[in-house]
Amino acid sequence: MDVEEFRVRGKEMVDYICTYMTTLKSRRVTPSVEPGYLRNELPSEAPEFPEPWEDVMRDVESKIMPGVTHWQHPRFHAYFPSGNAYPSILGDMLSAGIGCIGFSWAASPAMTELEIIMLDWMGKAIGLPPAFLALEEGSKGGGVIEGSASECALVTLIAARANGIKRLKHQFPTVDEGLLLSKLIAYCSKEAHSCVEKAAMISFVKLRILQPDENGSLRGHTLKKAMEEDEQAGLVPFFVATTLGTTSMCSFDNLAEIGPVVRRFPAVWLHVDAAYAGGAFLCPEHKSHLNGVEYADSFNTNPNKWMLTNFDCSLLWVTNRYLLTSALVVDPLYLQHCYDHTAIDYRHWGVPLSRRFRSLKLWFVLRSYGISGLQKYVRKHCELAKYFEKLVKKDDRFEVCNNVQMGLVCFRLVGGKEESGEQVDELNKKLLTTINASGKIHMVPASVRDRYVIRFCVVAQHATREDIEIAWDIITDFATELMEGPDK
Ligand code: PLP
Repeated sequence: MDVEEFRVRGKEMVDYICTYMTTLKSRRVTPSVEPGYLRNELPSEAPEFPEPWEDVMRDVESKIMPGVTHWQHPRFHAYFPSGNAYPSILGDMLSAGIGCIGFSWAASPAMTELEIIMLDWMGKAIGLPPAFLALEEGSKGGGVIEGSASECALVTLIAARANGIKRLKHQFPTVDEGLLLSKLIAYCSKEAHSCVEKAAMISFVKLRILQPDENGSLRGHTLKKAMEEDEQAGLVPFFVATTLGTTSMCSFDNLAEIGPVVRRFPAVWLHVDAAYAGGAFLCPEHKSHLNGVEYADSFNTNPNKWMLTNFDCSLLWVTNRYLLTSALVVDPLYLQHCYDHTAIDYRHWGVPLSRRFRSLKLWFVLRSYGISGLQKYVRKHCELAKYFEKLVKKDDRFEVCNNVQMGLVCFRLVGGKEESGEQVDELNKKLLTTINASGKIHMVPASVRDRYVIRFCVVAQHATREDIEIAWDIITDFATELMEGPDK
């Protein structure tokens, strides 16, 4: 493809995307394909010779689209939102067009500098303390764009681990590092995202998973008891992962209680994962959840969830960037440059060396919507979730299972008085399976207080009350059919 054809195909692609977006409603929200479906549709080997672009695009529509789950569909209520605003798509397009790989400041100065500035903009807008900002006078902090919240959990845990081992090595210089590693223990709540468990697995450290309270919130006294017990048993607490806006039920760990507990133990790293709920912290009415964030060493939120920005864009801030980078530095000659002692080199802030120009899309979104536009979007989702909650509460066959504060409602069929907890779980599983199989709307389950619940998340960028009513009608129709049979 030469530049003139790219000019034409690029415009056609934008048209294709626009038509996709505006006709999305007419497609099934989830595909009705079986694993391996595409193998039967595509040749078993790559083409030997170039093929016409028209053929490629024809196959996109006839072979790929039937297997796509449409996350931007108005009836998609699963997981959390996946940002996809037009300015962000354009930012990603420009990033692909420029095609630079900004692993160091010198490898593409604008990329590093825009990222630093975007992280400071966002940190201020969310309400993080100045210690997290890179451009504050005398600050050791700063932010970076990682590929995912899972990477944020991993790199912070790795930094905390390196710091923990270094401290122990100082105390016990003759003891083998492997033995010191076996003494380290990390903590999170049962409601924390599974990425914390994965980070601990990868890092070969013990993880103690703690019971949250009735509202899914990890409390200070629970953590304190666990840390004291472990210390008495000869273990060394080194990392606490907390969550603001949990995946299953959008609950909030009590940072204001946890922070002071963590600070009573020497050099324990406190991480805050606000992958989804961070978007809400742009709004003053939600900022109280951040009480205690001044005790944190790191904080993460994903604009690619609830801030209209395309995947991947996961923001991580730390209050001491040297603790993070000292755990991740490798420095071959071919990557060195004459500013590497004064400039930020993001290759030391994460796992990959190569990095895309991800700050462009965030910059485009922030300038196109302003903080006020993002607040409006988040508030609309919160209002619609409350509306859905009201509809659920009006129907006594159902109950709401979480404290609805943001865009997520967990609900379930109550079941009959004579039915056991397991039977009611089965009933709800059957309801959700039937709904999802219909392709009319899509939701996923979660476990809340050890019971099976259905998660309804407000996801679509331009969701309306009508969308919520349509979804509720579909859910209640299936529930009626399930409970009373199709003919009644
Ligand atoms: N943390 C929370 C609270 C989440 O909800 C999720 C995913 O939904 C994650 C972490 C993992 O996010 P990622 O896919 O960016 O690794």
